[in-house]
Amino acid sequence: MADIDLRSDTVTRPTPAMRAAMAAAPLGDDVFGDDPSVNALQQKIAALLGFEAALFVPTGTQSNLCALLAHCQRGDEYLVGQMAHCYRWEGGGGAVFGSVQPQPIAHQPDGTLALADIEAAIKPDDAHFARTRLLALENTLGGQLLPFGYVQQATQLAQDRGLGRHLDGARLFNAAVAQAGPGGDAFAEARRIAQCFDSVSVCFSKGLGAPVGSALCGSREFIARAHRVRKMAGGGLRQAGLLAAAASYALDHHVERLAADHALARRLAEGVAGIAGLRVEPPQTNIVFADLVGESREQAPALRAHLQARGILTTGVYRLRFVTHLDVDAAGVDRAAAAIREFFNA
Ligand SMILES: *Cc1c(COP(=O)(O)O)cnc(C)c1O
Repeated sequence: MADIDLRSDTVTRPTPAMRAAMAAAPLGDDVFGDDPSVNALQQKIAALLGFEAALFVPTGTQSNLCALLAHCQRGDEYLVGQMAHCYRWEGGGGAVFGSVQPQPIAHQPDGTLALADIEAAIKPDDAHFARTRLLALENTLGGQLLPFGYVQQATQLAQDRGLGRHLDGARLFNAAVAQAGPGGDAFAEARRIAQCFDSVSVCFSKGLGAPVGSALCGSREFIARAHRVRKMAGGGLRQAGLLAAAASYALDHHVERLAADHALARRLAEGVAGIAGLRVEPPQTNIVFADLVGESREQAPALRAHLQARGILTTGVYRLRFVTHLDVDAAGVDRAAAAIREFFNA
């Protein structure tokens, strides 16, 4: 039986139709700016999200790095959540490559950064302090959808205080699909969220199912600065249209289907509800977090091994994490839930 890989939505393989789109892509040399498939993708994602320009980059990490270094100079700082990817999970790249200092802020239980905490973290214009230049938010954050009213308020506050606003929208389309609800217009919601920001990064290689690639969107002038950073970071790719074509295919075919991933995550959470020793949060999108509690507190490694022995792969540094995606189905999710119940004799 094939493994059920719930480690991440990055594990998806390109579908046959996506591979066909890649094989058929017209190619050029993107370092010379003449790969038609890259140019088409950049225009498409910029237009979709309401920006002047976009830059195709190999990874979400590089996209955030380009954004940080295009917004900030040496000695500047950005305000960011403690658990945000562009602070915690990217090797400190902004500090290492840009001498840009992060100012992390604790999250509220719903994933937001309290407006009062943002306000309090903005440094006065004084030689003692780094210059506060940017607010970076993430949506979804650990699968949590930031309430849209909050996104408006936080980005308005940043704008009023003269800060730039960056969205790490690696899973922006998951947020948009959840925010749109059944029958809603996910693309309109993605644009509504994105338009609260000066720059937005989106990943094609997560739930959208492309093998590689992210895009950074912003003004023409901002993207020109980011383009220089991408070159310095070694991210100038040549016949990248092969990859851009997969991303473009994903935008055309894999956005609305994210609702199916969200339904599978709910199905998994429901399948393991009520187990003593396991606390599961109802998922808003495609990520289910579970905490082992009480007498089971130390059992996470044993549970992971139990699942692995049954072909069910999970991960999680701080908490157990199960992510649904294009390459898992209801039968797989049910098998995972049954194996978890078996571990707890529940
Ligand atoms: C995965 C992820 C990234 C980075 O993407 P990579 O392509 O793995 O570098 C950035 N931000 C968030 C929120 C992510 O989930």
